[in-house]
Amino acid sequence: MQTIDLTQVPVVDNHCHSIMRDQTFDDIAGWRQSFTESTDSGMARDHVASTALYRRLIQTLADFLGCEPEEEAVFAARTGRDGREIIGALLRAANVDTLLLDTGFPPPEEVFPLPELGKLGGCRTEPMLRLEILMESLLAEHDSLEDVKGALAAELDDVRGRDYVALKSIAAYRTGLDIREWPREEAEESFHEYRRAAGAGHARLAHKPLLDTLLHVAFAQAARQEVSVQFHVGYGDADTDLLLGNPLYLRPVLQRPDYRGMPVVLLHECYPYTRQGSYLAAVYENVYLDLSYGIPLLGYGEMLSFTRQALGVAPSSKLMYSSDGIGVPELHWISAIDGRRVLGEALGELVAYGELDLLEAEAVGEGMLRGNAIRVYRL
Ligand SMILES: [Zn+2]
Repeated sequence: MQTIDLTQVPVVDNHCHSIMRDQTFDDIAGWRQSFTESTDSGMARDHVASTALYRRLIQTLADFLGCEPEEEAVFAARTGRDGREIIGALLRAANVDTLLLDTGFPPPEEVFPLPELGKLGGCRTEPMLRLEILMESLLAEHDSLEDVKGALAAELDDVRGRDYVALKSIAAYRTGLDIREWPREEAEESFHEYRRAAGAGHARLAHKPLLDTLLHVAFAQAARQEVSVQFHVGYGDADTDLLLGNPLYLRPVLQRPDYRGMPVVLLHECYPYTRQGSYLAAVYENVYLDLSYGIPLLGYGEMLSFTRQALGVAPSSKLMYSSDGIGVPELHWISAIDGRRVLGEALGELVAYGELDLLEAEAVGEGMLRGNAIRVYRL
């Protein structure tokens, strides 16, 4: 079967995170920790090295670094290079046009600021605002729910004017995607519960009526300004209750006619709910599906499989590439390599089935890697 050659297409990585300033690791297990979503201590020590992703990473990095394809040799070659230098080398080799970064995590003081990262990688960088972090800071400053709502609406009054290209919500791993409208008394009660917890040192917004209520304030602003909202969906954080991470729970939000101006981007191909996410992108004009090739941490065959599912159900104009790379540059880099290869193979199949001709397949690949994101985020 013919594959489509997308190796020269620069990527717009529509969802990722910045890279840690400190690129030193105590030992191999410390480095392995970058390639698992598990927080169980034994995982990095005993199991990560036998995942398909990690095996592929060692092989691919050995080629890049010019060393033996053995974990020890790769780790030695990688850590033997200066942190900034290896970040720059990997990002440049990945041929990144633009990185869209969630600046809410990791904490800003631990990572490279966007302009510096862009300089290292020779690419454009654009920030996205993580809603729950903003909400937590406003909750600390205001004494009533009405004040917090007002302050949030004001903060989000001109999202692009404040240089953000999109908003992002992590409700999936705080309280679930079944975002509801709550009676005023319940939202107020939830607000006071949050304040009591915050007073006791637990300022983590996981109070459902409160978070849902504030999200509706953000949605109204996003819809009015036609600013995209990314939702974490599915695999991608150990905190998530994957049962409540199913994108079908978003239906009440997607059904709201007054929110139709808000492009909704479902992250991480909603893995393992890729078919459900693709279905939503096929049904709702304003729903897009992010195909993330760094995280979730998957084998090649599984990435090919989710790409087939997405292309088989959703319009390709709704699909956008990302890495969800975070902390280390390896994820941003290998994702770009894998994403082009997997997509080239999946599009080759569509050509074989007579669903696209060669030129169309190339154009679709270019759109998914770059052009669709430029259009959706108005870059
Ligand atoms: Zn992310």
